[in-house]
Amino acid sequence: MDIPRIFNITESAHRIHNPITPEKLAALGAALRLETGVRVLDLGSGSGEMLCTWARDHGVIGTGIDMSPLFTEHARIRAEELGVADQVKFIHGDAAGYVSDEKVGVAACVGATWIAGGVVGTIELLAQSLHNGGIILIGEPYWRRLPPTEDVAKGCLVGSISDYLMLPELLASFGRLGCDVVEMVLADQDGWDRYEAAKWLTMRRWLEANPDDQLAQDVRARLASEPERYAAYTREYLGWGVFALMRR
Ligand code: SAH
Repeated sequence: MDIPRIFNITESAHRIHNPITPEKLAALGAALRLETGVRVLDLGSGSGEMLCTWARDHGVIGTGIDMSPLFTEHARIRAEELGVADQVKFIHGDAAGYVSDEKVGVAACVGATWIAGGVVGTIELLAQSLHNGGIILIGEPYWRRLPPTEDVAKGCLVGSISDYLMLPELLASFGRLGCDVVEMVLADQDGWDRYEAAKWLTMRRWLEANPDDQLAQDVRARLASEPERYAAYTREYLGWGVFALMRR
């Protein structure tokens, strides 16, 4: 079981597979006022940076589930590196429908809400693992500027303008789902650069090491086109944030 190989190539050197930076991830952990021993579930945990650093900084106990064997392995290595391997567990698997045996204080899905068919389904899924009064974390894009045309949305690699909302509407939509928004940390364009531009050097190095790979042409084409596409579209139009929710 694995995600499409292109992501394992382009994001192989990423610790965080989203436009949030280490500093903002730390700010989010502090903002949530995490207490020692609180359980955190993370669906689509990637390379485990959120759980590992929060285990180190706040003493949380974490479980992450991710479909990429490579990222899951990186998460386990990171846990060893930070000395938190006895606090965090990383499971390789499909997080669709995953409900934890023990209820958690924080249930997160940061930049992977397709796992449960979108924001609505993800909130419902996470809620099943949550203690009364627990916090749901959703990492999700929104429109920083509304694309004037569908072509601009496509330039952002988004299927349609209607796939995302503007920030006020996204926040209002959480309310309509019966949730209070109790905190948020938003990415900025520098954070987007860390996520997107970091792929370019990774692709360039991968191409040098794998010139005859069957994905080499695809990766070469992406490396040639991505900087301009990203600067013209994603960087200008797409926002991203992590939203902390509590059920009313
Ligand atoms: N939350 C992490 C990773 C976000 S990227 C971070 O912020 O760094 C999205 C992640 O979802 C990738 O790691 C990918 O491997 C994982 N993923 C995609 N589909 C999945 C599924 N069905 N079940 C579990 N993980 C999945």
